[in-house]
Amino acid sequence: MHLPDDPLAAAGRALRDQRAGLLAQAAALRADLAGIAAATAGADGDDEHDPEGATIAFERAQTASLLERTEARLAALDGALARLAAGRYGDCARCGRPVGAERLAARPDATTCVGCAR
Ligand SMILES: [Zn+2]
Repeated sequence: MHLPDDPLAAAGRALRDQRAGLLAQAAALRADLAGIAAATAGADGDDEHDPEGATIAFERAQTASLLERTEARLAALDGALARLAAGRYGDCARCGRPVGAERLAARPDATTCVGCAR
């Protein structure tokens, strides 16, 4: 495909843009977690009876789950970029039919068509 507005090239750009944003987000979350760990390193670890300890534990759990979700999104984007490189981008992983330009525009890392995603 060598059209002026190549949809695959556009998808690749969208994927790489999202990936860069998520990488920055993941790095920030890792830094947050490191900061939380450093803040609790001096504490006596009595989370149960220290209200501030409970807050920090909650914050750490939230940050960790956010990082987990960010990394899952990154893995999905990497998969989409790999499919793009292999020439299989845009094919439904289930039925093999095209995922659809509209769906890919909304979700560049979509692996299934609307019908199979339901
Ligand atoms: Zn399908």
